[in-house]
Amino acid sequence: MAFITINKAHFFHNLDLLSARAGGKTKLMAVLKDNAYGHDLRLMAELASEYGLLRAAVKNIEEAESIADLFEEVLVLVDHPTSRKLSPSISLAAHSLEALQALPTGTSIHLSLDTGMHRNGIKEEQIEEALALIHAKKLQLKGVFTHFRGADEFSSEFFWQRANFERGKKRIKALEAHYSLPHIAFHCCNSAGLLRTYSLGDDDYARPGIAMYGYTTLNPLIATYDLKPVLSLWAEKLSTRVLKKGERVGYGSVYEAHEDEIISTYDIGYGDGFFRFDGFKPVKMADGSFTKGRMSMDSFCLGGDAQKVCMFDDANPLAEQFNTISYEIITKLYPALKHVII
Ligand SMILES: *Cc1c(COP(=O)(O)O)cnc(C)c1O
Repeated sequence: MAFITINKAHFFHNLDLLSARAGGKTKLMAVLKDNAYGHDLRLMAELASEYGLLRAAVKNIEEAESIADLFEEVLVLVDHPTSRKLSPSISLAAHSLEALQALPTGTSIHLSLDTGMHRNGIKEEQIEEALALIHAKKLQLKGVFTHFRGADEFSSEFFWQRANFERGKKRIKALEAHYSLPHIAFHCCNSAGLLRTYSLGDDDYARPGIAMYGYTTLNPLIATYDLKPVLSLWAEKLSTRVLKKGERVGYGSVYEAHEDEIISTYDIGYGDGFFRFDGFKPVKMADGSFTKGRMSMDSFCLGGDAQKVCMFDDANPLAEQFNTISYEIITKLYPALKHVII
């Protein structure tokens, strides 16, 4: 059966690198959203907790509840206000004044500031109104954060947004006494932000995702890092046959044998979250061999008769071939695939 391996040493290596940059393990909030970018949420949360990380961020409440026991705090990044009773470690990102209105009294929240991405968050001019609302509704303001639209790009945008965040931060701090707010955690850096900045300043922590898993889209002109990919995808052989000269394999009969050859079918297809290839541009496996023919929903073909094959241990070449980013290659993988720690 097809499986995914998770390299624990690589994960810890990446966490060493990131925590050194952030100023310690307590300065990281591990982004484990979307099934930990396809790596298996519970498994990666356990490893992150074993490493000593205290905080995590996830996509929705369901993900948060499944790891709430492992961290001091679990932040839900993208879910809707709910009246459901949440575990005490869970807080919800509030992305608008409407969301603040809709949240039930007592909910723990992190207020999201729009510093230029215009995807989510309140505007700087809405800070006073938001704090008044939080106070009136007795919401528990645990943190304030923002997100960068291009921290990985070779441009000054990161610095512009960061300056905007600093201004918002000052405005909030000036109102701390008035609303007798408890300690608020400020955070803004994703992986690229953390990897390009010299200091978190007085931010409480960074929120890296992709770099923990061994990747970055940071422009190499800014900096390069020795990150190590954590996930490998393995397929196992279903059957083997001889393809006679002139015979063709698979849908569309795209691949033709130019001489008699042994060919085998493996148990991963686009139904498992691997990008579908049409057979005209073969995909290179980790051992350098190339796929033969078109990918099916649940299988694909390779020459030879090896029992199992590593489809990739580095998502970057695939991202390039499929005109996407490493994030998508790993996040799309089907959650039901077996995950094994090595
Ligand atoms: C996904 C996400 C992150 C992590 O981003 P990476 O580029 O993977 O480090 C951080 N913050 C928010 C709000 C996110 O949505």
